[in-house]
Amino acid sequence: MDRSRIIERWRAVLEQMAEAARRAGREPGGVRLLAVSKLHPAGDILTLFEAGQAMFGENYVQEALSKISLLPREISWHFIGHLQPNKVKSVVGRFSLIHGVDSLKLARSLQRQAEALGVTQDVLVQVNLAGEEQKSGISEAGLPALAEFLTGSSTLRWQGLMLMPPFFDDPERARPYFARLRDLAETLRSGFGLPLPELSMGMTGDFEAAIEEGATLVRIGTRIFGERGSN
Ligand SMILES: *Cc1c(COP(=O)(O)O)cnc(C)c1O
Repeated sequence: MDRSRIIERWRAVLEQMAEAARRAGREPGGVRLLAVSKLHPAGDILTLFEAGQAMFGENYVQEALSKISLLPREISWHFIGHLQPNKVKSVVGRFSLIHGVDSLKLARSLQRQAEALGVTQDVLVQVNLAGEEQKSGISEAGLPALAEFLTGSSTLRWQGLMLMPPFFDDPERARPYFARLRDLAETLRSGFGLPLPELSMGMTGDFEAAIEEGATLVRIGTRIFGERGSN
């Protein structure tokens, strides 16, 4: 896609985000856009960065690292993919936020690596609310133990929750999951005395409903960059 078209689509998304926030009586500034650039070329990222987009999300470690090495240092990178245990070393300290912490084992491994590097690493916990086997995310039942661990961690800074709801053609069907994640965050805030400011939920097909239900970070790829794998 040409540069001006990408910028146009990005502006339209920002506009729709702000409208969704206002509909819900929220400040548009309380919702930030993570531009999901996986499988799109570094040139498209640079185009948007120069237009004013600061945060980009990537799913694949090797692809992300090669883009990070090519692009301006001021870009804030988020890791949103499923994190394999053997990739932990490549990820800690290089991404401003890791969205998908979904097990105690992964959290321990991230903590060890952050300690080894002497860095603090911001993380989100991905919750699998629908119990879908093919998706990652911790079950609600597993959440208290992970929350306990993160609360006590000095190197992992737990910033909130992340959700990939089941796929529906109609975004209204995803809405109850968004509302459930918001309630869960509220329960954890009072239970663990943490601010947990971030709710990462909403993608191309359902970001407006997610914002109406409280999203603070929406992860949008296709709506901005077009279909993946066609570049
Ligand atoms: C790819 C991806 C997105 C973006 O999806 P789109 O439908 O292209 O907006 C968001 N979140 C995660 C975790 C992803 O893997």
